[in-house]
Amino acid sequence: MLQQEEPKQAAEYLRQVIPMLSKNNLAPTPINYSIFYSYLAGTSQALNDIIDRFISEKKPFTVLLMLELYEKFINGGAALEQQEKIQQSLEKIMSEASEEVQQVNNGAGEFDTAISKHAETLSTVNDPQTTALILKQIMEDTRNMVKGNQATQARMQETNAEIAKMKAELEAVKASAEKDALTGLKNRGAFDKNIDSVVYIQKAPDTTLIMLDIDHFKRVNDDFGHLVGDRVIRYVSALLTQIIGPDHHIARYGGEEFAVILTGVPIDEVKHLTEKTRVAMCNSKLQRKESGDTIGKVTISAGITTLKPDDSVDSFIDRADKALYEAKETGRNKFVIST
Ligand code: GH3
Ligand code: MG
Ligand code: MG
Repeated sequence: MLQQEEPKQAAEYLRQVIPMLSKNNLAPTPINYSIFYSYLAGTSQALNDIIDRFISEKKPFTVLLMLELYEKFINGGAALEQQEKIQQSLEKIMSEASEEVQQVNNGAGEFDTAISKHAETLSTVNDPQTTALILKQIMEDTRNMVKGNQATQARMQETNAEIAKMKAELEAVKASAEKDALTGLKNRGAFDKNIDSVVYIQKAPDTTLIMLDIDHFKRVNDDFGHLVGDRVIRYVSALLTQIIGPDHHIARYGGEEFAVILTGVPIDEVKHLTEKTRVAMCNSKLQRKESGDTIGKVTISAGITTLKPDDSVDSFIDRADKALYEAKETGRNKFVIST
C-alpha cells in the first residue's frame, strides 16, 4: 500500500510508473497509476503474474481489464485490509470483555470468602456488640460488592455496544468487498468463493448453476455507446434480482455475463425462472433515456446445469458454459440444459 513505503522508495516507484504506462499505451489515470504502482511495489504476486503475462504475450491492457484488476487487487485489497483492522479491534474488545468477566468472577469469589469468614467469626462470638460489628461489616461488604457489580455492568454494556458497532462495520465492509460496482450484484470474487463452498462443502441436493449472457451485446455498445450498454447490463441485473429473488446467489460473472447459483430449487422451477427472465427481457421495450429512441430488442441466452456428486468447480462451470455456448450456436434467445 502506498503509505507504507519509505518516501524515497515511493518516489522511485512513482518515477517509473509513467514510462511504464506510456510503454503499454495506457493513459495516466488514477486507476492505471495505482495498478502499476502496486506492480512495481510488488504488493501482490497474482497481480504481477497477470501483468507480466500480458506484457510478455504483448496483449493489450484494455480499460475493462484495468478496471477488473483495480477492483480485484487494489480496491478489494483495501477493503480486506480494513476488514482485518476491524477484526483485530473486535478481538481486542472481546479479550477485554473476557478479562472483565474474569474480574467479576474473582470479585464474587472474594465476597464469598469474606462472608464465610464473617460467618465463622459469628459462630464463635456471643456478645451483642461484636455481633453487631460483624453484621455491619457484612452489610458493608455486600454494598461494595453491589457497587462493583453495577460499575462492571455499565462497562460490559459499553463493551457490548462497541462489539455490535464493530460487527455492523465488519458486515458492511464484507458486503462492499463482495459487490459488483456497476450492478450491485455479487462480484466475481464472491462468486468464486461461493461456488467453491457449494461444490466442495455444501453439496446440497438440487444445486443448479445458470450461466447467462446478453446476445449480440457488442452491437448495443457499437450502436448506442458504452454508457447505454452499461444501462442494459444494469437492466438485466435488476430483472434477474426481481425474478430469481434476493435469496439466491446472483453474480456478475464478467462483462455482460451473469452466473446464478440456486440451491434446493427443483430443476423444473429453475427452468421456469430462466424462461421467465428470457421472456421478460425479450419483451422489454428498451429506450434511450435522453432521446426516447428505441434500442430495439435485446435478448439473453442461458446454459443450465445441475451439480453432480463428483463435480469439481471447473467441471460444473464447464458444463453450464457449454450449454450456454450451445444456446448461442443454435439461435440465441433461449436456454439449454446440460445433464
Ligand atoms: P454473443 O451473442 O455471442 O454473446 O455476442 P456478444 O456481442 O454479446 O459477445 P462478445 O463477447 O463478442 O461481446 C461482449 C461485449 O461486451 C464486448 C465488450 O466490449 C462488452 N462489455 C464487456 N463488459 C462491459 C461493460 O461493463 N460495459 C459495457 N458497456 N460493455 C461491456
Ligand atoms: Mg454476449
Ligand atoms: Mg459474453
